[in-house]
Amino acid sequence: MSKLASTFADNSKSTTPTHLIFPANIEWQTDDTGNKVPVSGEFGDVYFSHADGLAESRHVFLQNNQLPERLANLAAKQCFAIAELGFGTGLNLLATWQLWRQLRSIHPHLASARLHFITTEKHPISLSDLTQILGLWAQRAPELAVLIEQLLASYPPLIAGCHRLNFIEDNLTLDIWLGDASASLANLGFERAIKRPYIDAWFLDGFAPSCNETLWAESIFSQMQRSSRAGTTAATYSCAGIVKRGLQSQGFMIKKVKGFGRKREMLTAVMSEMSSLDEPISDLSNESTPNHIVVIGAGVAGLMTARTLANRGIKITILDKGAPLSGASGNPRALLAPNMTPIHHVYEHLHTIGYLYSGRLYRYFNTQAAVRKTPLILEQTATLDLLVKTNIGREQIADYPNSMATTISPEQARELSGLKNKDLTDNLYLPQAGLVNPQALKTVILTHPNIIYQQLNITAIKENTDGITVTGNKVDENGSHAASTITADHVVICAAYESHQLDKRIVQCRTIRGQLSWFTPTAEQLAKLPRIPLKYSGYCASFIGQSGDATLNTISENQPQFLLGASFVDGDAHIDIRSEENQQNYDKLLEDFPELSSVLPSDISTWQARAGIRTQTIDYHPLVGLLAQSKRLWTLSAMGAKGYALAPICAEALADMMLGCFTPLSTTILARLSPNRARLHKAGNNVGNKVSEL
Ligand code: SAM
Repeated sequence: MSKLASTFADNSKSTTPTHLIFPANIEWQTDDTGNKVPVSGEFGDVYFSHADGLAESRHVFLQNNQLPERLANLAAKQCFAIAELGFGTGLNLLATWQLWRQLRSIHPHLASARLHFITTEKHPISLSDLTQILGLWAQRAPELAVLIEQLLASYPPLIAGCHRLNFIEDNLTLDIWLGDASASLANLGFERAIKRPYIDAWFLDGFAPSCNETLWAESIFSQMQRSSRAGTTAATYSCAGIVKRGLQSQGFMIKKVKGFGRKREMLTAVMSEMSSLDEPISDLSNESTPNHIVVIGAGVAGLMTARTLANRGIKITILDKGAPLSGASGNPRALLAPNMTPIHHVYEHLHTIGYLYSGRLYRYFNTQAAVRKTPLILEQTATLDLLVKTNIGREQIADYPNSMATTISPEQARELSGLKNKDLTDNLYLPQAGLVNPQALKTVILTHPNIIYQQLNITAIKENTDGITVTGNKVDENGSHAASTITADHVVICAAYESHQLDKRIVQCRTIRGQLSWFTPTAEQLAKLPRIPLKYSGYCASFIGQSGDATLNTISENQPQFLLGASFVDGDAHIDIRSEENQQNYDKLLEDFPELSSVLPSDISTWQARAGIRTQTIDYHPLVGLLAQSKRLWTLSAMGAKGYALAPICAEALADMMLGCFTPLSTTILARLSPNRARLHKAGNNVGNKVSEL
């Protein structure tokens, strides 16, 4: 437990969303058959039945929401959304997941259907307690063992907000919203102008109302109504009056049915024909799921957008006037390490949410790379941040789970970094940070069977009622130009600072030139250079060239490289290589670590470099969403220097908005990312004006 959580008294009875997470206090009892079972120390109630928790879960939540039939009858590409109140041990999720796997193995038509399991938890169980609890279930129900292993491997750090876990082979998306359920449900984000998402089935699994009323409060039932439509079902083991009245008051018709085991009854409910919407929303729901989407731009934003949509069964054409990663995303390596924020802001801090999600995704890609024996996408080196440019100190770092961020002793920091003279007392150690290999990522994405890449210099985009066309010039091998027009259901513009030229509704952004430098150290230099990526007023890292690196940069396979970044030239959109910016990168490193002057080569004229243009809005937030007055034209752009951390989660949110699903980003964050947000378009907010820090 973090220092902060442990110094606070139990707040389990509080209904105020604090945005601080206090892990569950687990106590153990013995059930009817002699098994050890967990009990909540906060609420004094059981997580699952003492008779047989798994059988009860299947009876109450799966059978009585008719999941076996409803899931089996999904159409191709259809997404079924379940919302659960109280994630607890994850047993309901595991039972549902196993059913979903079984159904997919016998019904080929479910190959492209998806299951979206959204769950909420105020007091998440720590990984070590959960490992113990689910370890017992793996013995009792071996059919769950492989799922348990996957869940534990992806279990997020216990910080507030939404954690998206994608189990890609099973077309299962799990969103775990940590925090009070009422606030989490109110925060479920979606795109208002397109198909509205609904929950298809609710699992009401709070502790008994006599132990904890917060999951049976009016605010919960009204949120349920807001996110349900006619035919949405709900199930709960509880027949308490407060539950019956709550459901009925929000348009659910309730029915008592046989309970599990010795329990006489339980409750099922179905949303009546009445409108479940709190306000009218124009709906394109009679439109089928898109078949073909064009993504413009083959940098990290475009690649991640393409991959996220392709995974949902949609054919994607990526268009770019240049080669993939030829812009700012094509650096030799990208350092994946967050700019931390005090923990009470973290639930809406896009960079942290993005860092956690992209780390999970890149580690998943790594498992694929290991099978294919191709270079790793993320080399998990860890990173040492010396807090030169951060707005967080040691006390605030201590509030975070150690597995995510911690301060190590100066001795450990010296040992890890190899630095001898620097005072390393203040530091932020990020064990899961590392170096992304853009070329390896690109290769994984472009080999997706639903994605094709085409070179095209786009000259026009035209939206009409049935579709959208993109016209441009192709250059063939002989250098001659030919016009080409491509038709799609949607277009996503991911062209960084050039997005504005493709559609004027996308605001013109600041252009910030950044040049990265690298050189091949001798074995002697390498032994004395920092052994772990460092963040100071710049950043540096060593890495070994991999196959594919030479496609983008002058880097030979198997050769060590030492990378230093990056210059910052505001308002400059040129990408020529400048020796003075190599010098700046060199100087920055030596200013912070003078001891390295004897190690770095004094002649930097042979250094390699690459310059890219980072694109940033005046409020520092990216642009993610549908353009004004459009139903088919979207953007995902302006990620600044954080594309490898932000693009994966922003692409998930964008795909959800396009397909009418709940996003992993809250309504508040989506509003901040809207390409149409007022603060960007106000007269006088010219490029270069600074509003506030992200
Ligand atoms: N579904 C769980 C499972 O499969 O193990 C069991 C859920 S347990 C009966 C109820 C859960 O609700 C507990 O994990 C508890 O921490 C959580 N909870 C209680 N009050 C909450 C609130 N206001 N918001 C979110 N979760 C809450």
